[in-house]
Parts: sequence; C-alpha cells; structure tokens
Amino acid sequence: MKVVIKCDHCGAPLNYKAGDYVATCSYCGYTTVLTHNKPFTLEHALLPLSITDEKAVVEVVKDWMSSSFLAPRDLSRKAKFDEVDLFIYPFWVVPIEATTRFKGFFERIGAGQVKEGKIRGKYDWLVIAQRAANFPTKEYDVPLKGKMPYDFTKIPEYAKVLNAEFGEEEAVEKAKAEVVEHHIYLARKEVDRVIEHETDFKVGEACYLHAPIWNIKYSYKGKRFRVLVDGTEGKIIVGDLPTPGLFDAL
Ligand SMILES: [Zn+2]
Repeated sequence: MKVVIKCDHCGAPLNYKAGDYVATCSYCGYTTVLTHNKPFTLEHALLPLSITDEKAVVEVVKDWMSSSFLAPRDLSRKAKFDEVDLFIYPFWVVPIEATTRFKGFFERIGAGQVKEGKIRGKYDWLVIAQRAANFPTKEYDVPLKGKMPYDFTKIPEYAKVLNAEFGEEEAVEKAKAEVVEHHIYLARKEVDRVIEHETDFKVGEACYLHAPIWNIKYSYKGKRFRVLVDGTEGKIIVGDLPTPGLFDAL
C-alpha cells in the first residue's frame, strides 16, 4: 500500500512513485522533498514549451528526416508515428568550475616522455534526475536562457511530468565524476596515456529544472526507431534512422 503524502501548500495528495525524491504538486505546483521533512529551498525552474501539439512535432521530425542524408528518401512519407509523447523531465543543473592537473605518457615520438598538463572548464553540468532514463544529456544543448520559475499552469495536461529520484548531493557527485571523465577525455588528446590526475572543483548552487522533451517512436519497414525533440527550441536531440542496408542496394 502506498502512503499518501499531502502537499504542504494546498493539501492535495501528491502524485509520486516509489523511489521518487521530490514531487511537484499537480494542483498548485509546490515542490516537496519526500524523504525528509524539510522544505525545498532550491530554485525550481521550468523551460517553456513552444511545440505544443503532436502535429507540430511530427512536422519537425519529418523535416529532419527529409533533410537527412543517411535516411531513405521515402522515410518522411512512409514512417508511421506510433507514439508521440510529451515528457517533462527532471534535471539538476550543477554550476561547476573544475581544474584537472594530469601527468601522462606521450609515446608518439621516439622513446616516449612524461608530459604534464592542465584542463580547466566552467560548466552548467546537466544531470538527469531519473536513474533509468537513458537520456543523452551530452547531446542535449539545454536552452537555459529561457528558464523561468516552475509554473504548472504552463504544462499541458497530456504531458507526463516526472519527479526527481535523487537530490542535489547525489547530482553534484555525478556531475563531478562526469566532469573528470570529460577532462580525461580531453587530456587524451595531449598525451597517449594518463597516469595521474587530480581535480579541484568549485561548485555553485544547483538548480532543479523541468524541461519538455518529446519522445517519438516511429516505424519503417517493420522496425521501430526513437527520436527525441527538445520541446523548447524544436531541435532534434537524438534520432535513430534506418540506414539503407545491403538488401536495399540489391
Ligand atoms: Zn499543492
């Protein structure tokens, strides 16, 4: 049996799943931390939705199909749009400055030598707050400029609003680990093998953000493919395409 937790602000029952960390009231938009009895004091933002209906998003995907090189020419005509769903995904945006000092082996010339280097970066690092989301955060150029305070009235009723499954602390740890990974990747352009590295961080206050993402599933010649579209700017985030295979060429 599920425990009923009421919204602190309006008293309505909160909609949440096991494992959710914060829930947003669908009646008044108030944000509640479920696991502690403490008020949510962080900034909760929303990116506005500009592609507000299914037809418009299908057009965006069709344009992308017909302008894509790799796609079969009849794709935009023949693709069948099986699922077109709007999700409002929860993200943590972690402002982070990081300096990684590294030592590595440079082996390209002669006997090899040890080289030292430094990678610095300043980021608004994006962490999706759902554990099993399989969301390509690196491909999503999150349009932070348009963010506004969370306002549930700006979210259409057919949208699926997802709650965060973990809090700021865990998001910061994830962001740090991913920044280090990114810096090591950059270091590998300077040395062939990284042997030592250390990173200093300056972390700002995280922002809890909901962003509209259209999830599209289409089928073509009996196979299914997925496309994600940024609902704020109407850009394709990632999309799978049927590539012309051997059979098509025969
Ligand atoms: Zn409420």
